[in-house]
Amino acid sequence: MRTLTPHPRWPHEALNVTELHEKGWRPTAFREFVLKVHQRCNLACDYCYVYELADQTWRDRPRVMAPAVWQAAANRIAEHARRHHLRRVTVILHGGEPLLAGPDRLLRLTADLRAAMPDGCRLSVGMQTNGVALDERTLTRLADDGITIGVSVDGSPADHDRHRTFANGTGSHAAVDRALRLLGSPPFQPSFAGLLSLVDPSTDPVPTFEALLRYQPPAVDLLLPHANWATPPDRRPGSATPHGDWLVAVFDRWYDAPRRETRIRLFEEVMSLLLGGSSRSEQVGLSPVAVAVVESDGAIEQVDSLKSAYPGACATGRNVRTDSFDAVLRHPAVAARQIGAEALCDGCRSCPVSAVCGAGHYAHRYRPGDGFRNPSVYCADLQVLIRHVHRRMTADLSRLAGR
Ligand code: SF4
Ligand code: SF4
Repeated sequence: MRTLTPHPRWPHEALNVTELHEKGWRPTAFREFVLKVHQRCNLACDYCYVYELADQTWRDRPRVMAPAVWQAAANRIAEHARRHHLRRVTVILHGGEPLLAGPDRLLRLTADLRAAMPDGCRLSVGMQTNGVALDERTLTRLADDGITIGVSVDGSPADHDRHRTFANGTGSHAAVDRALRLLGSPPFQPSFAGLLSLVDPSTDPVPTFEALLRYQPPAVDLLLPHANWATPPDRRPGSATPHGDWLVAVFDRWYDAPRRETRIRLFEEVMSLLLGGSSRSEQVGLSPVAVAVVESDGAIEQVDSLKSAYPGACATGRNVRTDSFDAVLRHPAVAARQIGAEALCDGCRSCPVSAVCGAGHYAHRYRPGDGFRNPSVYCADLQVLIRHVHRRMTADLSRLAGR
C-alpha cells in the first residue's frame, strides 16, 4: 500500500462542518456519480492526471469494477436519490478507459443501475472515453442502450498526437478520428455527448477549435491543464496569460460565428454568471459541486482532477459497501466545495470578478502547506477571459439597447 500525503489544514482541519450545520447550512445532494469501471488505459498521454501526476492510488485498486461493487454503488445511488427526492441523476462510466471493461460488462452494469433506481428518478448514463476502442459494433450496443458518449480529443492530428499517444509513442489521432466520424454519423448523433479538449497555448487557437468543429460536436469542454501553486502551468515567454489569451481567441471565433456551431460550456457558464445566473461547471462560479466518484474498489472519492494536487487528495475514507453518500456529504473537503464564497481566500473574496470566477477550478488553488484556500494558479488568465467576455457582452447589449 502506498503512503499518502497528509491532508492540508484547509479544509480538512480548519473547516468545522458541525458548526456550519449549527448555523443552518445544509449540503447539496450529489446528482452526478462517476464510476471508475476500469483503472487502466490503452493510451499513455503525457499530461494524464491519473497516471502521470502526484497520485498513484490506481496501482492499488482492482483493474476492473466487480459486479458486487457496482451493485453496491447502484444501491447507494438509489438510496441517495430516495433520501433527497431526486428526480434525475447522471452516472458517467469512466476510467482509465471505460471501454476496456468491455461492452457486455458495461451493459450489465447499466441494467443493474437502472433496476435499482427508485420510481420517479430518471437515470441518464454517459461515458467518457478516449475513443480508441470505439468500433461500430460497440457503439451500436451502447447507443441502443441509451448511453451517451463523450470523447477526449486535442485539436489537429499533430497537436493531438504530441500528447495523446499509445505506450509505444505512436499518436492515437487516427483511431480517435475513426470513432468520431462514426459518432458524428446520422444513426449515432443522438448518442454524441460532446468533446473534451485540453487548452494548449502552444497551439494556434482558432485552427485548433476548427479542427474540433469538423466533428460537429453538440458541446465542447475546454479544460485548463491541471496545475497548482507547487506545479504551475507551463508559461512560455511572450505572454503572462497564454491560457487566457488562447481562450479569448477561441471565444471570439465562437461568439462571432453567424450561427451557433456548438456549445462551449466554459464560455456559456461565464456568460450566464455575468448575467447573474448560476454555474454548473467546476471551472468557474460558486455553485456547490454535486459530483461523487466511485473507484473500482468501491471507495467514494472526490473528483479525480484533485489527484493532480497530492497523493490521496481525493480520499474521503468512505466506501459504497459500508457507507452512504450522505456520510460523504459531511466530509470537510466535500463541504468546502459546497459553501460558495465562504471557501474563498481573502484575496478572492474582495476580487471584483469573484462571483464569476469563484477562484476557478478547486484543484488549481492548491498550495502545499495551506491547502485549497488560495486564488487559482490561473488567476490572471481567468481575469483576462472574464473581462473580455464582459466587454463583448456589454458592447452587444448597449448596441441592442440603441446606445
Ligand atoms: S486517455 Fe485519459 S486516462 Fe488514458 S492516459 Fe490519456 S488522459 Fe489518461
Ligand atoms: S482567482 Fe483571481 S480572478 Fe478568480 S476570484 Fe480569485 S482573485 Fe479573482
